[in-house]
Amino acid sequence: MPDELLERLRRFHDHTFPGVQEQFQTLVKDGQHPTILFIGCSDSRLVPYLLTGTGPGELFIVRNVGAFVPPYDGQNEGTCDEGRPLAGYHGTSAAIEFAVLHLKVSRIVVCGHSHCGGIRALYEEPMPEARNLNAWLNLGREAVLPVRLFAPEVGNASDGSTTDDGLRQEVLRRTEQRAIILQLERLMNYPMVRSRVEDKKLSLHGWHYVIEEGEVHVFDVQSGQFLPASSASHSGHGPYPQTNT
Ligand SMILES: [Zn+2]
Repeated sequence: MPDELLERLRRFHDHTFPGVQEQFQTLVKDGQHPTILFIGCSDSRLVPYLLTGTGPGELFIVRNVGAFVPPYDGQNEGTCDEGRPLAGYHGTSAAIEFAVLHLKVSRIVVCGHSHCGGIRALYEEPMPEARNLNAWLNLGREAVLPVRLFAPEVGNASDGSTTDDGLRQEVLRRTEQRAIILQLERLMNYPMVRSRVEDKKLSLHGWHYVIEEGEVHVFDVQSGQFLPASSASHSGHGPYPQTNT
């Protein structure tokens, strides 16, 4: 039985790579100099290069469930393992420090999206086996609205959960957007981020990508809303008014 993935690797090497070989060799010779740190959800339908029209060398990307930013001190509030705070190996925090301190990026984008499974999971019963995932989801917990969206598996909607799909989608979208702002605020607790934002060397951008519409909605701090990129006058704000765009 043919290994389709192996076929794809061979196709890349034999057919795609020759067309971009020079570009990649230059990136090796000169090193990478991306100016944007893109923190995005791992969702397979979110394709940062397509959204931004970028290519090799232009985006430094870190992705995780929910596009979350861990606290700078590595603590996961409210989660303990035998009395100790559950502070893990935070790849996202490491990537933020690398991008800001080493690559000296000038923009950080936090990009969530519609129909996010990570955000939806905040309204569902946790899976007992998913110990790390359950802890990780706490990073979005503050964005949750006080609405019961889904009935537990045992039982029915008469427990007070909504059966209105329109309302459910609206609550999820608002939660997705609130979570983005929450992550931007948490980014400002990273000393190297805060100092560069205050020095106008770094700008933060909150994006909510609506998959079915193909449009990014950018956070506008003045109105406190997410505006469609098609009508916005900027590419998104952090938690504070933009100072260097
Ligand atoms: Zn997602």
